[in-house]
Amino acid sequence: MMTSSDNSQTGCMLAEDVRRYYLDTMGIQVWQSLEQQDDGVETEVSENREVIWQQLEQAVSNCTKCDLHTSRTQTVFGVGNKNADLLIIGEAPGRDEDVQGEPFVGRAGQLLNAMLAAIGFQRDQVYIANILKCRPPDNRDPKPEEAVACSSWLQQQIELIQPCVILALGRIAAHKLLNTDQSLAALRSKQHDYAGIPLIVSYHPAYLLRKPIEKRKSWQDLKRIKNLL
Ligand code: SF4
Repeated sequence: MMTSSDNSQTGCMLAEDVRRYYLDTMGIQVWQSLEQQDDGVETEVSENREVIWQQLEQAVSNCTKCDLHTSRTQTVFGVGNKNADLLIIGEAPGRDEDVQGEPFVGRAGQLLNAMLAAIGFQRDQVYIANILKCRPPDNRDPKPEEAVACSSWLQQQIELIQPCVILALGRIAAHKLLNTDQSLAALRSKQHDYAGIPLIVSYHPAYLLRKPIEKRKSWQDLKRIKNLL
C-alpha cells in the first residue's frame, strides 16, 4: 500500500499514477503502450480493484484489533461510490449505524443527505466512512488507542478512493485526521491538507440537529466544498 507521504498530490490528479500502482500491485507488467491495450487493462484493473475492496471489507468485518469488537453488532465499513470525488468522514457508528451496518443513517443521515443535495450530490455519488468501524458503547468518544488501532482501515480506503476532497464532520473526526486538538471553530476557518488531499472541517449533522442555528455556518463550509470540486 502507498503511504501518506507517497500520496503527495491531490487524488484527482493521479489517475495514471494510481493505474500504474494497481498494475504493479497486481503484478501486471505493462510492456505495450497503455494506449494500445487500454480497454483490456482498464477492465482488469477495475475487476482487481473490486477484489481488493472485498478483501478489505472482509478483513474489517473480522477485525479484533481493539476491544470494541466485543460489543459491536457488526462492523460499519463505509458506503458509497468507490471512485468518489468527495469522501465524507465522521466519528464512529452510533446505535442505528451499528444495527444497520451503514454510516450516517437515522436523522443525522437524513440531514447529511439533505446537505449533500444542497450542493448537487446524491448520497450514492460520495463515499461515507468513519474513523472507527465499530460502535463505542453508549456512543462515548473513541479512545485514542481505538482510533490508532482502526486507522489503517480508513487509510486504505482513502488510498483506494483517491478523493479530490475530504470533508471531516465533527471535532473528533477532524482531530484524528489532522492530529490536532484545535477547536472546531478554528479548524473550520481554513482549508487543511491530508496527504495532499484538500480537507474541510464542518459540523457533524447530529450536532446540527441539536443546534440548528449553526446550519448557516455549515452552509458556508458546503459552499467551500462545492468550489473545490
Ligand atoms: Fe477493529 Fe476498528 Fe472495530 Fe477496533 S473499531 S475492532 S480496530 S474495526
